[in-house]
Amino acid sequence: MKRRRRDPFYLNVWHTGAPETRRAGAANTYTGAAGLRVRRADGRWFEDWGGQYFVNNVGTGRADIARAIAAQSRRMSWISPSDFADVRLRLTAELRSILPAGITTPFYTVGGSDAMESAIRAARKVTGRRRVLTFGQSYHGDTMTIESINGGPVMPYGDPRPWAVKTPGPYDLWESTGHDWKQAGARALDRLEATLRRLGPRSFACVIVEPVMGSAGCVPIDRHLARGIRAQCDRYGIKLVVDEVVTGFGRTGRWFGCQAVGLKADALVVAKGLTGGYAPLGAVVFERSWGETLRRTGFNHGLTFGGHPIGCAAARATIRILRRERLVERAAAIGRVLRSELEGLQARHPDLIADVRGVGLFQAFQIRALAPARGMKGRGGEPAERVVERITAGALRRGLRLLPASDQRTFLFCPPFTVPRARIDRLIEILDGELRRVWRSP
Ligand code: PLP
Repeated sequence: MKRRRRDPFYLNVWHTGAPETRRAGAANTYTGAAGLRVRRADGRWFEDWGGQYFVNNVGTGRADIARAIAAQSRRMSWISPSDFADVRLRLTAELRSILPAGITTPFYTVGGSDAMESAIRAARKVTGRRRVLTFGQSYHGDTMTIESINGGPVMPYGDPRPWAVKTPGPYDLWESTGHDWKQAGARALDRLEATLRRLGPRSFACVIVEPVMGSAGCVPIDRHLARGIRAQCDRYGIKLVVDEVVTGFGRTGRWFGCQAVGLKADALVVAKGLTGGYAPLGAVVFERSWGETLRRTGFNHGLTFGGHPIGCAAARATIRILRRERLVERAAAIGRVLRSELEGLQARHPDLIADVRGVGLFQAFQIRALAPARGMKGRGGEPAERVVERITAGALRRGLRLLPASDQRTFLFCPPFTVPRARIDRLIEILDGELRRVWRSP
């Protein structure tokens, strides 16, 4: 009993089984957050350049959002999602004023994964079909259903669903094109068309696409591919569901990522930036006629905390801040600064950095598969994964938390839209130092 009080533990932490992840302590427990920074129990502050996995758009510690949450919890802390609630209706009106034209009718959820499941259910309901098509390397969430539509393998104790079909995405094809994104996009479209033809395009309920493939390493869908996917969906009556969980609410310098890459959606799935992380909330928002069909025929499902009033209040306050401080425009402007600084870094380290890419304030650079180090000349060089590990550890020592993509070769940068220019300068200075160290010492 005594021991349990001294050593509380929970299993959500990404614990690998390694000793340092099996115990909570001052060096791996967080106690505070302000703007771009997070504070550890040992008193150290870190700048978090991964935006806490793409959530932190407006900066943490905002008094306005805290007040809106407190007011809502006093006024009506809770009402079942099966009832209309004023706060949900007001949020819907607010969303309509920023969503792409024609995307009108939300179904509120707890987060991104359950919104994705609702989108699939809705697509199946209106098409009467079962299959779902996604790109290799995509990421759409982490339930036992949704893991089947992700690019990677399902968990060892999961089971792949036969209706979940994958087709190679631009990232899968990029290496084989000699690092040419345009060609990779064109080949991805050819492969997508071939996959639909092979299995029968009219067996597909929906295609699900991230406008910028996030976890894969920040890969924007190019315009030719975006138009091609839309054309296939139109031709065969397939619903096009756009996963905006990462890209929604300004991350790309436009309100929604589909606007930045020219992808015309039948439904958007949103979460994360919808509340900027202040409370859980997600939604799938349907285009008008799809929404009307569901309204007429019913769409009765959902989780107890779907569309939580406190989440809705947080979302309204977050959108107000985005508007008032013109943060979407700022994400575009400061994103251009970050991009040009990263390109400068690549120009100084062409042997280490293979690619710089991104849209708005979602930028990335990828380390070469075999990065040469001075002492290793003629011996092939160091694998990118090891270089990424070393740079991540080095930056952490200097107070920066960096976010490597799931390929373990690419660094993702997605700070809050309020990030000051001076912090970007310091980031670049630290990255430059770390890249030099990699080059000097294998
Ligand atoms: N879609 C994308 C692109 C994501 O990155 C994520 C989560 O990281 C999800 C969906 C799932 O969202 P959630 O974790 O809120 O269920």
